[in-house]
Amino acid sequence: MEIMAELERAGAVFLDHHFVYKSGKHGSGYINLDIIFPNVGLMSDICVDLIKPFLDGIDSIDTVAAPAVGGIVLSVLSGRAFRDAGRNVSAVWADKDGDDFAFERAGFVEQLYGKRVLVVEDLLTTGGSVRKVCRQAEFHGAEVIGASVVCNRGGVTAQQLGIPRLETLTSVSFAAIDADACPLCQEGTPIVDNIGHGGTYRAEHPECKGGYVSLNTAS
Ligand SMILES: [Zn+2]
Repeated sequence: MEIMAELERAGAVFLDHHFVYKSGKHGSGYINLDIIFPNVGLMSDICVDLIKPFLDGIDSIDTVAAPAVGGIVLSVLSGRAFRDAGRNVSAVWADKDGDDFAFERAGFVEQLYGKRVLVVEDLLTTGGSVRKVCRQAEFHGAEVIGASVVCNRGGVTAQQLGIPRLETLTSVSFAAIDADACPLCQEGTPIVDNIGHGGTYRAEHPECKGGYVSLNTAS
């Protein structure tokens, strides 16, 4: 599967516009995988690809784990993909717990102790959620074999996550520029206010040279 083409077709990738990122910086590209979550077929295909690098004997997996909420879908569908490949694998997720994550549901910790764990996630930006889930799994006695993510948009490495192996289906990097130095602002390119953090920016800067625009998000 050509994952980037699939994501673009599904309307999850936006290029050549003017966005405001969570950091407050500006840039021309944006990726939001929420839009593909309702597409069970595409999500299932993506999970088949996610687990593929971990199907060989050396890296046999007992449990798939992920950060909630989006990761729940990925964890369960990845577990299903393992099953379809003839492997019996459990699927768990860590719920958000303040700034951290916790495996707090009944029976989940038992799927971690002494188990070989694969962590799955949709988007890596700083890698913070995946790193926390890996540490929590280790805290409960798991051996984290690696992580598999749909899109690495932050250039995150396995070393930064403190794990032996990181597999990504696709990587993107969007240059993020301080608003003061943003060439798109200077050119008067309208800021997208319905994707990313342009709406917040608009509330704080009702007047801007290029104005604002909403993109059609229907796929
Ligand atoms: Zn700008």
